[in-house]
Amino acid sequence: MRYISTRGDQTPRRFCEILLEGLAPDGGLYLPERYPQVDAATLSKWRGLPYHALAFEILSLYIDDIPAEDLRALCAKTYTAEVFGSEDIVPLRELEDGVYLEGLSNGPTLAFKDMAMQLLGNLFEYELARRGEELNILGATSGDTGSAAEYAMRGKKGVRVFMTSPDGRMSPFQQAQMFSLQDANIHNIAIAGVFDDCQDIVKAVSNDLAFKRQYRIGTVNSINWARLLAQVVYYFAGWFQATSPEGGEVSFTVPSGNFGNVCAGHVARMMGLPIRKLVVATNENDVLDEFFRTGVYRVRGAADTHETSSPSMDISKASNFERFVFDLLGRDGAKTRGLFHDQVAKTGRFDLSADPAFADAASKFGFVSGRSTHADRLATIRDTDKRFAVLVDTHTADGLKVARAYVEPDVPMVVLETALPIKFAATIVEALGHEPDRPKQFEGIESLPKRVVRLPADADAVKRYIAGHCA
Ligand SMILES: *Cc1c(COP(=O)(O)O)cnc(C)c1O
Repeated sequence: MRYISTRGDQTPRRFCEILLEGLAPDGGLYLPERYPQVDAATLSKWRGLPYHALAFEILSLYIDDIPAEDLRALCAKTYTAEVFGSEDIVPLRELEDGVYLEGLSNGPTLAFKDMAMQLLGNLFEYELARRGEELNILGATSGDTGSAAEYAMRGKKGVRVFMTSPDGRMSPFQQAQMFSLQDANIHNIAIAGVFDDCQDIVKAVSNDLAFKRQYRIGTVNSINWARLLAQVVYYFAGWFQATSPEGGEVSFTVPSGNFGNVCAGHVARMMGLPIRKLVVATNENDVLDEFFRTGVYRVRGAADTHETSSPSMDISKASNFERFVFDLLGRDGAKTRGLFHDQVAKTGRFDLSADPAFADAASKFGFVSGRSTHADRLATIRDTDKRFAVLVDTHTADGLKVARAYVEPDVPMVVLETALPIKFAATIVEALGHEPDRPKQFEGIESLPKRVVRLPADADAVKRYIAGHCA
């Protein structure tokens, strides 16, 4: 399997060449040159496999530069009941008739990002050891991504994490999750500023190519292909759980921000998994819902980006969206480049409403969408608690709200549960008047010793800190 860029660079690259990379050199995103096809006979063979074995079968279709036995061992080491809380790894629960929740949030940081990040940690350690190299991961987080990255990389050989976050702006629980880690290779850097300041610092440091090379700076953001690939597996696992051995179609609803999660669903569908609809659920930051309704993709400015109670979906643009558009346009790299490099960069938008390809988004690729608000979240959290005695987090509530508009008879609707309610306790209290249950391992974490340095919003200060801590 070789990988190409969405902006026309056809240089074939292998999996391990792009594993540690972000963007392709031409500014595009990596995709496989074709989607391996999985037929009904293969699906029957895979039914009943433990999650780690299913992961190996799927990953091995895309990775041919890691020996099969090594890849099998990496999957087995990653997807354990010990780390993900049950043998099912992604257990499916039925709510009302035909509507299911797929639990993707039982990993170490209680959000679905663990599903991919835990594998990435093991892949990075393996590949860096093979090359005899080290990597310093620099990131910016306002919550879920940073903690998932730290829990995936803690104690890993050859990897250090330098994670910036806006000082005092994460929830106490999120801060405690990150700052209580005592591993020597994890560095929490609280920046006197807001999330955008953190992102600007990461950009400034990464743009200093000499520094980047000397200190081997890398990232683990959501455009990383390996992360997306790891997420493909749970669409298969969800499909198996929602169907009988005869098979049949299943729809998925995905609480979406940067379009990474639902893009993995698109890849699973392109491989031949019988997915009927992919429902993109957004919050008030409805960049994606607007596109699927109208054909217009319009990046929001800072003033137009709302702070909501499902904060991990508060985006101004959707970083992985270009991957789907490339497929939608028949894999025309020049046209994709024209839209994202020329039009978005110049005017902040593009309009496919008059392009015949736009109709394919729904008819050929199964995409539909909807939007949910703070009031919808509160109502959905209350309703789910009352009718099913199930507590959902704010992002999952957005998914459930939007899913209900697309339920069809005899087609299971699987809503992806992207976080546990304890991470967003304030809104649960607002909805129900009491705190959500806290998993045992997190009892009292707010009072553990904290490991964090405070720095000004200044890229040079962060560079000095990195240089001083990469011996
Ligand atoms: C990251 C995240 C999302 C959004 O996922 P994308 O892959 O960016 O679309 C949704 N919910 C939660 C809880 C998240 O952490």
